[in-house]
Formats: sequence, C-alpha cells, structure tokens
Amino acid sequence: QQRKAQAAAHQPAKTQSGTRIEVAANVSRSEDAARAADGGADGVGLLRTEFLFTDTDEAPSEDEQVRTLRSICNSLPGKLVTVRALDVGGDKPLSYLPLPHETNPFLGLRGIRVLLRSPDLFRTQLRAVLRLAKDHRVRLMLPMVATVDEVQQTREILDEARADLRERGMYADASLPLGTMIETPASALRADALAREVDFFSIGTNDLTQYTMAVDREHSELHGLSDALHPAVLHLIQRTVAAGTNAEIPTSVCGELAADRAAVPVLLGLGITTLSVSPNQIPDVKALVRSLDDEACRRLADEALTSNSAEDVRSRANDLLSDRA
Ligand code: PEP
Ligand code: MG
Repeated sequence: QQRKAQAAAHQPAKTQSGTRIEVAANVSRSEDAARAADGGADGVGLLRTEFLFTDTDEAPSEDEQVRTLRSICNSLPGKLVTVRALDVGGDKPLSYLPLPHETNPFLGLRGIRVLLRSPDLFRTQLRAVLRLAKDHRVRLMLPMVATVDEVQQTREILDEARADLRERGMYADASLPLGTMIETPASALRADALAREVDFFSIGTNDLTQYTMAVDREHSELHGLSDALHPAVLHLIQRTVAAGTNAEIPTSVCGELAADRAAVPVLLGLGITTLSVSPNQIPDVKALVRSLDDEACRRLADEALTSNSAEDVRSRANDLLSDRA
C-alpha cells in the first residue's frame, strides 16, 4: 500500500467526489525542499525561515537570503512557495536580536511582534522576498498575528521595502500576495476583519491549539487536553474558513493536524482544500484524500462541531475511516 501511495504521489489528489485537494509541504531547512519535490508536493504551504537566522552570529544579508530562498524555489519549479516571515521569540533568542527576559515567552514577544519592533531586520527579509518574486511564484505569510493593525503596519514596511529596491533600480514585485497565519484565537475570532486585509489564511493548529486550550504545546502531561481535534479548536477553524470563503480568499491548514489521519476528513468536511504537511507525509495524505467522500466528510465535521471532546471526534472519524469501501 505504501508503494502504491508513493507511485501516485506526483498525481493531483482528488476526493471520491472529484474535489481537488492541494497537498503542499512544510519546509524548515533547505534539504526539505528536495524531499518535498520527491514526495510530490503541490507547493510549499509553509516555508519556516528560522533556519536562516538561528545558529549564526549575525543576521543573514539580503543577498544571502535571496540565494537560499531561490535555491529552495528552484527545487520545486513552477510551484507556489509560501514564505513565512521570521518567527522567533523569547524562547528562541538570537544573539544579535536582544529581547527582554520574559517569564512567559509564549505570551510575549514572538513572531510579528518581534518583527514590528525590529523594522530593519524585517525590512531586509521583505526585500529578499520581493526580489524572489521576480522569478518565482511566492507569497508572504505573517506569524502570530493577533490584530488587524499588525497587518496594516506590515503593509507600510512592505511599501518601504519596495521603495528601497526601486531606489536601487531593482525589481520589486508590486502585487506580492500577503497572508496571515491563523494561530491565535484573536485572529480566528476576527478572521472576517483580517480577511479584508490579506490575500490568504493558513491555520497553524499547533499554536492555535496551545492558545485555545491554554496548554503549552510541549507539555508532557496534558496531551489529551491539547488535542487539536478538540471541538473548541474546530469551531475556530470553521469560523476562519467561513470568513475566507466570504472574502474569496483561500484557507489552508499547515499545523501538524493537517497530516493527522483522523483529522483529514474533518478538515475537508470543514471546507479546507489545502493541507500542508511534512514532505515524507505527502504520499499518505494524498492516498487518504483519494479515499474520502465529500458528503461523508461534511457530516463528520457537523458531528465533530457538536461533540464534547477530541476523543469523541477521533472515534467518529475512525469509524468513518474504517467504513470506507
Ligand atoms: C503552527 O503553529 O501550527 C505552525 C504551523 O507554526 P509553527 O509550528 O512553526 O509554530
Ligand atoms: Mg506557530
């Protein structure tokens, strides 16, 4: 079965009902890009850029960033690559970016909050992505957004980055798509307002679950409580998809939930049409998608939303999976 999945990995994945589901890759280091291509990725749904900034004594230059990002794009010719802006914080310090000590770094300076306080660092990364867009299909995604204002401030810095490049006589993409991660409850609850400011959403279920259930994502004893299939998280996903659909912008899922077998039919039933997963999970996720029926997924999602626990959702999903022809 594994071999069959591998053989079909490079074909598009359609459900039994004929709905095309994009299965993209999460890429966290350069080597992942080749693995994504081998695995049959339909694109890169999440390029984590942290690897460019950690383990060095100084911030990478604009040229260095362009070179590394370009080589990643070259591994997946013609495919859409979603570059996420740097997502560091108090828990992952950078020597050249001093941040105050925080007693609770996950509720402190992280992601977009750090970037907006380090405009030079941010602007350099934005210039690199704008330059990349000359030859590649790329879009830019913001981490840890909680407010509309954070997106508006980013647009201003993006305009400054364009002006910098034009001043140098260089290409600056005028229409680089800008999207946001939905990984804070605030962003999911205000997805309708955010949808007016961005071109796409991608739901980060790892952090969204941590912040919704108030359980540290690394907590060793509270796994049961931090299951992303908890109906509380599913309601936020449903709300996000609805806001995206209303505004005609796409919503994908790039947290670990996207590759969770029980979760895939639930996410499809909630209207998700792009899943972004680790490169090695692509063949299996595509094979699973091909076995699913849209109407059955929708019914499962309806039941999941009114369930009382993640366990209950899992058992309903597993029933559906074992009932397949
Ligand atoms: C997430 O939070 O679900 C996510 C995809 O981002 P990261 O795991 O990089 O925090
Ligand atoms: Mg996250």
